[in-house]
Amino acid sequence: MRRPILAANWKMYKTQAEASAFAKEFLPLVAAATDVDVVIAPPFTALPALAAALAGSRVLLAAQNVHPEEQGAFTGEIAPGMLRELGCRYAIVGHSERRTLFGESSELVARKAEALLRHEIRPIVCVGESLEERESGRTAAVIETQLRESLARVPGERAAELVVAYEPIWAIGTGRTATPALAQDVHAQVRGVLRERFGAAGDAIRIQYGGSVKPDNVRELMAQPDIDGALVGGASLEPESFARIVRFEAR
Ligand code: PEP
Repeated sequence: MRRPILAANWKMYKTQAEASAFAKEFLPLVAAATDVDVVIAPPFTALPALAAALAGSRVLLAAQNVHPEEQGAFTGEIAPGMLRELGCRYAIVGHSERRTLFGESSELVARKAEALLRHEIRPIVCVGESLEERESGRTAAVIETQLRESLARVPGERAAELVVAYEPIWAIGTGRTATPALAQDVHAQVRGVLRERFGAAGDAIRIQYGGSVKPDNVRELMAQPDIDGALVGGASLEPESFARIVRFEAR
């Protein structure tokens, strides 16, 4: 009942020209994948070029971040209305790199998610534990707190528009993927928190796994009952590799 969603997070990679070249090669490779949602989040600067290159395709544009205010004296920041004007349909908020490198709190993530929904942009809300938190047995508590705080401002009637990405920090960019069973355990817990928070609407929210997803492991991850998609960093930078992920296809 939940439509799979495969999202590329390009982080601080690719110029406008590189984003356009990616789209040219990628779109024919995924033309037949009509039963999944495909999303690409380039750097802000590549959004216009990628929007033009994706025009007429089913691949949707996303941002990697947003500021919660409508406008104002916030040097270096980008407002949700600006993203919507560029055609963004999704935006990633609370990525662990934002939380750890830029000090973002779940309270700020909640304000960003709320602002995005006001502009009809679907938030992809990231949560995940560190290695130290996992090894000290605190994964469940950490995930529950991050979820409750980050989703605190989402109105119940908008819940189905959310995407949650579970990204264990120790698996991001390390080549160390959570096993499908371990990921499913946390996804089931996330599902439980979403049901408590939003009632039946919690069943409609898609939960992505992120952390070293590759063509080789995507199929097994996607076979888990509560894994509804993937948020992909490194393996989304090459058209062939991300296309294989979109098609759940190993090398
Ligand atoms: C990410 O940064 O969201 C991510 C999952 O990265 P990678 O796929 O490279 O681990």
